[in-house]
Amino acid sequence: MDKGRIIKLVGGLYTVLDQDNKRHTLKPLGIFRHRNIRPKVGDMVEFNKDSITKVEERNNDLYRPLIANVDQVLLVNSAKDPDFSFLLLDKFITLIESNHILPVIIVTKIDLMKDIELEALKEKLAYYEKLYKVIYFSSVTKENLESIEAVTKDKVNVLAGQTGAGKSTILNTINPDLDIKTNEISKALGRGKHTTRHVELIEFGQGFIADTPGFSSLEFKEMTLENIKYYFVDFFELSHQCKFNECSHIHEPGCEVKKQLEMGNILPERYNDYIHIYNEVKALKPMYRRDK
Ligand code: ZN
Repeated sequence: MDKGRIIKLVGGLYTVLDQDNKRHTLKPLGIFRHRNIRPKVGDMVEFNKDSITKVEERNNDLYRPLIANVDQVLLVNSAKDPDFSFLLLDKFITLIESNHILPVIIVTKIDLMKDIELEALKEKLAYYEKLYKVIYFSSVTKENLESIEAVTKDKVNVLAGQTGAGKSTILNTINPDLDIKTNEISKALGRGKHTTRHVELIEFGQGFIADTPGFSSLEFKEMTLENIKYYFVDFFELSHQCKFNECSHIHEPGCEVKKQLEMGNILPERYNDYIHIYNEVKALKPMYRRDK
């Protein structure tokens, strides 16, 4: 019995990469359908010469793109053009955290910023470095390319981030053989919700990356008001010291998050983004709210 990972699904045929980097084209066992087991890209599987015989339990399961066992999301934010946005950063982080996946923050186009601007940005982002890995990257100078290679090694990665932030540039810099056209991936972003298209994991340095970005829709329809506070991991740590168990960190007395904010230990942008996201979820039509 061989083991491997599904890296591609086209027309009901799976491509499985085994431990020796050999590819196998396989079908799932017929019995899977009766048991409602649907292998998907990213799955670790056992197989014989023509069939996938067992699907191992998943660590996580993304809906868009349809990939299982994602290790991390490379969250790409441009320093400039388009301008850096803390709100976008925190919106993406919230969505990624809600899927129980780790974000890696990559700040691109740092060569477009003046030194003094970049220093100011880094000073603020130092707050996020306490929570996540932050990499400053330039495709022009190749600064910190090796950090991206190191962080993605042996991992299944998904790219996320605003259109134009430089996702395809990162792909092409690490894996020039791919030659993904810049607008190709932005087209992929706009591909929409209704298209079911094949998904593929491509070799990326010494790891894998999905050929289509995730979290392209920044809607919070799946989120409940009560859960947002868990996705701000820094607030969650402090919440044990809040006076009320279910503190929303907005209007309750004895709130440790607000106390730390006033003491200057929480980045104001971060707290404002939390309020923004909270209000956005609150304003969703009740039909979309699970807590209603
Ligand atoms: Zn609180």
